[in-house]
Amino acid sequence: MKYADAHADTFYRITLEGLDPFSRDGGLHVNVPRMREVGQVLQVCSVFTPKRYSGKPAEDFARRIISTLDEWAEKRPDAFVRVRCAADLALLGDSAGLIPWLEGASPLRGEIGLVDEFFALGVRGIGLVHNHANEVADGCGVPDPRGGLTSFGRELIQRMEQLGMAVDCAHLPQPAFDDVMGAVTRPPCISHVGVRRYVDIVRNADDQMLHAIAERGGFVGIDFYPEHLLKDALQPGHQPATVEHIADHLLHAMDVCGEDHVGLGGDFDGFADACVGLRHLGDLPNLERELSKRGLAEARIEKVFSGNLLRYLGEVLP
Ligand SMILES: [Zn+2]
Repeated sequence: MKYADAHADTFYRITLEGLDPFSRDGGLHVNVPRMREVGQVLQVCSVFTPKRYSGKPAEDFARRIISTLDEWAEKRPDAFVRVRCAADLALLGDSAGLIPWLEGASPLRGEIGLVDEFFALGVRGIGLVHNHANEVADGCGVPDPRGGLTSFGRELIQRMEQLGMAVDCAHLPQPAFDDVMGAVTRPPCISHVGVRRYVDIVRNADDQMLHAIAERGGFVGIDFYPEHLLKDALQPGHQPATVEHIADHLLHAMDVCGEDHVGLGGDFDGFADACVGLRHLGDLPNLERELSKRGLAEARIEKVFSGNLLRYLGEVLP
């Protein structure tokens, strides 16, 4: 089985903590030995900027993560290959494709010219917000979010579509999400999310949101973050989230979106306490087994594990 993933903070951690992506037990959920073991062909790499950075420091921090990724890709072409356009997706195999992707648009500092600069650095998707507010919209952690997209946000989406960048709605609260659906002319995505059918929080997607993405030919990546999968999963003494919960969320998203629009955006290396049965990337065969147990045929599991994300990127990238 091939694996392609829509969201991991691995290069953020490598940049910040100096961790070695070639070490199997060096502290990363996602690392080269495990990528090879599970047949990973592509990783979308979150360029996350913590809330404490805004303006120029946010821009500089994002550039730092992208340079770390560049350095590794240059040094180890046997393991990594940069994906910049749809045609590059055909080259994936022994080396896993890497795509830097902003998580939160704060590195753009509200300046449209910076979109082109980040595009030139290889960024091919932008999660418009994180939990806090930025120049594009309020994030899902803001109580009583503003009306929706700012005028910069609208301008940004237009420019991203012209360039061939994915518009990522992860972390968007409802009013801004609806604005994005009204603004996009190309397929949008939610790179990493759970479903509100099981955990009713602003951060998760309800059926109407899932449907809106699928209807536009987009992509939804289910994540492995315990609290998106099971209410209060990380509270002391509470039942933990497991690989069965991930399957529940995936199957529900597939019920709403159909089998061509749902995949995985695990958010590995973005949290400490992982789900039981999926402690790190190497445990992925447990999810495959669980989906098979639930009656999902191999061809459909293949779509969830890689086919749908690769199809989506093939349509959106230049
Ligand atoms: Zn996130």
